[in-house]
Amino acid sequence: MNVLFVASECAPVVKVGGLADVVGSLPKALIDDMLSAKVMLPLYTPVIDKYKQSLNEIDSGDFVFSGEKKAYTVYAGNIDGIDMLFIGNDEYIGSGEIYPSFGVGTKDSKQIEVERFVFFNRAVVDYLSRSRDWIPDVIHAHDWHTGLLPYLIHEHLDKKIPVILTIHNLGNQGITDLKILEKLGQGRRIEDGVINWDARDDNLDLLLQGILGADLLTTVSPTYAEEITTVEFGHGLDKVLMDNRYKLYGILNGIDNEVWDPATDEMIPVQFNREDPKEVLKGKLKNKAALYEELPMGSADLTKPLVGIVSRITSQKGFDLLKQVEEAVVANDQFAMVALGTGEAEIEEWFRKWSDNSPYIHYVDAFDEALAHKIYAASDMLLIPSRFEPCGLTQMIAMRYGTIPVVRGVGGLYDTVIDGKNGFVFKDYTGNALWQCIMRGVEAFSDTSVWYKFVKHALESDFAWNHSALQYKLLYEKAASFVR
Ligand code: ADP
Repeated sequence: MNVLFVASECAPVVKVGGLADVVGSLPKALIDDMLSAKVMLPLYTPVIDKYKQSLNEIDSGDFVFSGEKKAYTVYAGNIDGIDMLFIGNDEYIGSGEIYPSFGVGTKDSKQIEVERFVFFNRAVVDYLSRSRDWIPDVIHAHDWHTGLLPYLIHEHLDKKIPVILTIHNLGNQGITDLKILEKLGQGRRIEDGVINWDARDDNLDLLLQGILGADLLTTVSPTYAEEITTVEFGHGLDKVLMDNRYKLYGILNGIDNEVWDPATDEMIPVQFNREDPKEVLKGKLKNKAALYEELPMGSADLTKPLVGIVSRITSQKGFDLLKQVEEAVVANDQFAMVALGTGEAEIEEWFRKWSDNSPYIHYVDAFDEALAHKIYAASDMLLIPSRFEPCGLTQMIAMRYGTIPVVRGVGGLYDTVIDGKNGFVFKDYTGNALWQCIMRGVEAFSDTSVWYKFVKHALESDFAWNHSALQYKLLYEKAASFVR
């Protein structure tokens, strides 16, 4: 069985969020004698700069896009144990940020982003129409960036390749005006039922295209699979998802235990063994001291708990709850807080203000892989107050380092964090509920024997890919059987 992953991110090559971790680790967990997997990505500028030496040009082609013939080049290489394919094109893919609209969100930047990924989808299908070796039996597509693949496969391939679409985040749907169809070289035709239905409101929703066109759908936790069929979490697609429930599966994401292992993690100053919670606590204390020195956060008391945040700074992540209790947060001297992340300007500004007004709060507005590792290793708790959370990886990563998640009980957070055992969970979306939950953590931390048990349970929580990888394999078989 050959499975081609098509996605916009893949760690370590290019990473903005958890999608990259999944696309970078699931194939490794899948590959065996029976299954071969490759990952196809756009060749963004940072990737060209860093990896082009280790890539070979294997093909090139062209198709009409925006009224003219546009060329693309396909590169291949094995990066970090994964066979990767890249689509290169200077005009649509090789310029600017990975997501031109991230943190900006203007109409223009959104349009540039949509065109980038529609071009990418078209090029993937063009390449598949000509490729003679390693033909995929199944395409595993990810998020709206690949939502047009089922339609384009139907349009341009003689032989159908089944598509499984994984929804990593329903909040982003890739909505675009109908001109994109003209760019693809075709207007609306009477027989394009799915396009016409979607276009009734004068735009196309690329995630919706994927949802309707894919043979099977998955999302990244069992609870999120339920939630997205409700008005509260459905982002306007709840009814469609309800109708398509027969092909929707919730499979919990896993993490790569080799990447996230404090015993071997070269990015943290002091490595520590996960086997013994006492050693973990000692190791974390040394990492906390090193982190306070590096930031610097000299006046923070090492004996008080450190609450870490490693996150995209967007409204999805629930930081408006911290804003509701900002006076208490800033005035508090019972815990310190270190936050790392970038995203929406307004929320970044709140963090800056809190950081300026408190000696115990430090905010770093960067995407910094090494600092993220240091925060996981040094923190006693990791705060994830999400409004919605399809799966969430940071709580799983935190637990690998003996860091106790403090989370809102939604989506994958609900599926992985057990209140009073390996973490602290609050349900109501209020600042007060968040504050009470942090305080429960602070109190538990003050009693070493209580805290020891939390750390032990967190370390014992197992989020390796094995189980979920098996579930994906069964779905690949099912999808492949549709064309046999
Ligand atoms: P999402 O995909 O919604 O962003 P996840 O919890 O699924 O959230 O995954 C986030 C991933 O991105 C984790 O691997 C986390 O460590 C990483 N991450 C988030 N923000 C940063 C940052 N500012 N610097 C480094 N890594 C980050």
